[in-house]
Amino acid sequence: MTVNLLDFDLESLTAWCETLGEKRFRAVQLFRWIHQKGAADFAAMSDLAKSLRGTLQEHAEVRALPVLSEQRSADGTVKWLFDVGGGNAVETVFIPEDDRGTLCISSQAGCAVGCRFCSTGHQGFSRNLSTGEIVAQLWHVEHTLRAQLGPAGAGSGPRPGSTRVVDNVVMMGMGEPLQNYAALVPALRTFLDDHGYGLSRRRVTVSTSGVVPMIDRLREDCPVALAVSLHAPDDVLRESLVPLNRKYPIAELLGACERYLPSAPRDFITFEYCMLAGVNDNEEHARALVRLTQGQGPAGVAWPRVPCKFNLIPFNPFPASGLVRSSRERVLAFAAVLQDAGIVTTVRKTRGDDIDAACGQLAGEVLDRTQAAERLARRRDVVPIVAVPPRAAGLASAPGSAA
Ligand code: SAH
Ligand code: SF4
Repeated sequence: MTVNLLDFDLESLTAWCETLGEKRFRAVQLFRWIHQKGAADFAAMSDLAKSLRGTLQEHAEVRALPVLSEQRSADGTVKWLFDVGGGNAVETVFIPEDDRGTLCISSQAGCAVGCRFCSTGHQGFSRNLSTGEIVAQLWHVEHTLRAQLGPAGAGSGPRPGSTRVVDNVVMMGMGEPLQNYAALVPALRTFLDDHGYGLSRRRVTVSTSGVVPMIDRLREDCPVALAVSLHAPDDVLRESLVPLNRKYPIAELLGACERYLPSAPRDFITFEYCMLAGVNDNEEHARALVRLTQGQGPAGVAWPRVPCKFNLIPFNPFPASGLVRSSRERVLAFAAVLQDAGIVTTVRKTRGDDIDAACGQLAGEVLDRTQAAERLARRRDVVPIVAVPPRAAGLASAPGSAA
């Protein structure tokens, strides 16, 4: 079995090269060939010694992911479906904007968290992606689009001086990145490395449904920008939407955010909030969010204060969800409450919805090893439609996630 060089960050590639008797600068050259030039053919790596090229050919490869499909939206968004073997496929989405290109990358085939409003969650969990499979998504998109369009040509406007197509990576595709931590961190390091993709820490974002211990580890190991999927201002409602909340309730999650901030590349946390009609979108929910993030938790409880921005995501429907997108008026009224309290709030534009590339619509093809569809069907009627006294709605009996 040959070694997949996309599995290595520069440090581990250096260690591997040392086992071949090669010095660090050779690892740097090899790393630059792979990530900066998109080379997969060792024979073309002209400044490496012929003997090393021979050894690489024998023992290593740059293992790209087979492309099952590539779809382009009218708005310029591009979605790839990559085969990750065993009947599983994951999706990656490129979103061109005026001043930058953003790539939304998957971290798992499926997802074990099982959020009610997420198509990936409804599919269940199959397996973690390897570091190489995470990096291969950026490797493929950056070099394919660069060859097609020239650097910086993929945006809707020119970006003079830019040498790359993707300058922003968000771990917001399929899967919960912090439940695949060991593979995630070397991938992030490769994205950031000056000899790799050279992205700034502010332009690499990990989005999480709230795996508290791993937020703490990320702070130590690789503190990139953090987005936290909040979706509800209280534990009862959040449990019904994001089952992981039973393990890591809101107070603990906010505590982890507070601890993360001193190491974060920005001085705020982004809270994502999926707007679901009649579920979490009234003005009292918004007022509760203000209290929650401004240090006023339940009476008598010490509560963290978390400088934050809110990103409201209009729910992107998919057939099995049984949920409805909040009206534009509702979203704007909700945003106004947050803004009046001094919280910067944006409403996410839906991109690529003609090719099902919007947030939460990524489905890939996943062999469910967790019977998630069945679990979600059992939970179908537990989401409160109005703000009823929550315990009375029987939410506490919702089955837990496999997380
Ligand atoms: N597992 C991570 C990252 C992937 S999901 C997380 O949950 O944060 C990326 C974002 O899309 C999350 O904020 C998620 O809540 C949101 N999302 C999921 N399904 C959605 C849907 N159907 N409509 C809108 N946003 C959705
Ligand atoms: Fe998993 Fe994120 Fe989807 Fe929840 S929203 S099921 S954590 S991918």
